[in-house]
Amino acid sequence: YLGLVGHPRINKAAQLAIEKYGTGTHGVRTLAGSLMIHKELEETLAQFKHTEDALTFTSGYVTNLSVISTLVARGDIVFCDKLNHASIYDGCLLSHAKFERFEHNNLIDLEERLSSAPQTSTKLVIVDAVFSMDGDLVDLPVLSAICKKYHAWLMLDEAHSLGVLGKSGSGIEEHYNLPGSIDIKMGTLSKTIPSVGGYVAGNKDLINYLRHAARGYIFSAALPPAQASAANEAIHVIIDEPWRVTKLSENANRFIGGLKQNGLDTMLTETAIVPILCGDDDIAFAMTREAQHKLVFVLPVVSPAVPQGLARLRATVTAAHESDAIDKAIDIISESAHQLGVLE
Ligand SMILES: *Cc1c(COP(=O)(O)O)cnc(C)c1O
Repeated sequence: YLGLVGHPRINKAAQLAIEKYGTGTHGVRTLAGSLMIHKELEETLAQFKHTEDALTFTSGYVTNLSVISTLVARGDIVFCDKLNHASIYDGCLLSHAKFERFEHNNLIDLEERLSSAPQTSTKLVIVDAVFSMDGDLVDLPVLSAICKKYHAWLMLDEAHSLGVLGKSGSGIEEHYNLPGSIDIKMGTLSKTIPSVGGYVAGNKDLINYLRHAARGYIFSAALPPAQASAANEAIHVIIDEPWRVTKLSENANRFIGGLKQNGLDTMLTETAIVPILCGDDDIAFAMTREAQHKLVFVLPVVSPAVPQGLARLRATVTAAHESDAIDKAIDIISESAHQLGVLE
């Protein structure tokens, strides 16, 4: 999202880490795998996410799997948006907690389910901060109020909001100016951050508990030093180059605004993930071919990933895009929409 792949400072940090530590750690964090760079990365993450502490895993997928299945178990209830990421689903299933799926971004449905759940059971609510196929945001003010009312823990997956939302790019709490409203902040080091790995950030007790109980942390090797160092440096670059976050939101607004002005339906996106509604799967494939042929990289999203008749293109804006390139992409996509009858 922020155009950080290949950033000289980040590449350099990875190279220096290889020179200092080599390419691997020979082990898990709890035995000999922990290096200073892991500690540094976790401190940087905690600071950037405004939490007391943070913990890293070898992927975002493993983070969700591990965190969810450690925090809830049989007898507990987990509430999950129907459009949540697969790794959240898998974490819920692994936990053996009762699994309640509510309608996408429908907080009334969530509240009904919370209010009819037994008062004594432990409740965990998990949602994506920004939904990966639609680009729409969760209504954090309402969501956090509901969770407080029913004494439910709130966990957010910030895979698509880190570096994207908030003035400094720290995520959805900053966007809504609601510090401290999320109990468990999870994210990946493989999207905005050009590395690999996942993290969870929260208060000291939560992170300390996960450090001693999360099986995906205890029984899987530490992040390679180069990747940990790259992730650490990337966060410092985001802090030192705040123009990237501003530019990303300007670019997203320019792209969404231009498409809408031409009559295209970008659904409810407010972020860098931009769906462009096409209708039938065939039309989405044809529009993708047209756009890619003219060097605009979009991907089709078709059934069963989305309901029949709601096939779309999925485009992603980054801070590395120039205004002219965005305008040209708008023209090319609009032209193909005319050719294929999506636009009159
Ligand atoms: C990509 C993604 C993940 C998984 O992250 P990886 O680091 O690729 O394993 C989890 N949640 C969401 C919402 C994602 O988009």
